[in-house]
Amino acid sequence: MTIELTRMDGGTVGLTPEDLQSFKAAFRGQVLTADDAEYEESRKIWNAMIDRRPGLVARCTGTVDVVQAVRFARQHGLLSSVRGGGHNIAGLAVCEGGLMIDMSLLRGVWVDPVRRTARAQAGCTLADVDRETQLHGLAAVLGFVSATGIAGLTVGGGFGYLTRRHGPATTWSRWKW
Ligand SMILES: Cc1cc2nc3c(=O)[nH]c(=O)nc-3n(C[C@H](O)[C@H](O)[C@H](O)COP(=O)(O)OP(=O)(O)OC[C@H]3O[C@@H](n4cnc5c(N)ncnc54)[C@H](O)[C@@H]3O)c2cc1C
Repeated sequence: MTIELTRMDGGTVGLTPEDLQSFKAAFRGQVLTADDAEYEESRKIWNAMIDRRPGLVARCTGTVDVVQAVRFARQHGLLSSVRGGGHNIAGLAVCEGGLMIDMSLLRGVWVDPVRRTARAQAGCTLADVDRETQLHGLAAVLGFVSATGIAGLTVGGGFGYLTRRHGPATTWSRWKW
């Protein structure tokens, strides 16, 4: 059965079962449609008033999955959204009818206690990062509420307990300890 997806230009495009199958074959994580049992859960975010239905949800398990999802979206001209921690109140993580690229399973954090730096994946919450840095007596400038995603918080400029002393959390500033 062909699936209708929303395009970037507002029109629609029909995805054939072969199109979907080739995307799934290149993707290690789950690619969910409205027919899958996990679909309803995957489109929920913090703001329960947001009730959008992506045409596809690509649940990334690593960088290759992210690359494949972006390629697929570009190939078909799909409207796309990126989901990190899902705390944006306007629900920007969830697009209507397009492809939601879901990072929320990517929760790895690697701390280098000597250089006092950390690398964290795009689905991490503040709690994920705090848990790993605290093991070494370190703390990153992030936010106040542990369930918030680090991706949206740093892209938008985050403020938290350490902001008055060290400034906001941003994508490019070096985290201070
Ligand atoms: C309960 C609550 C508590 C909060 N507490 C704080 C706080 O203490 N301090 C603070 O500064 N802010 C706080 N915020 C605001 C929060 O930082 C922003 O809403 C932020 O956008 C959430 O990021 P997220 O990854 O959870 O959200 P998402 O909704 O997943 O993403 C937010 C935006 O970033 C985009 N995005 C996500 N991942 C990526 C990526 N990898 N690459 C590019 N774009 C991406 C999304 O598409 C979306 O547009 C809070 C919000 C809530 C609802």
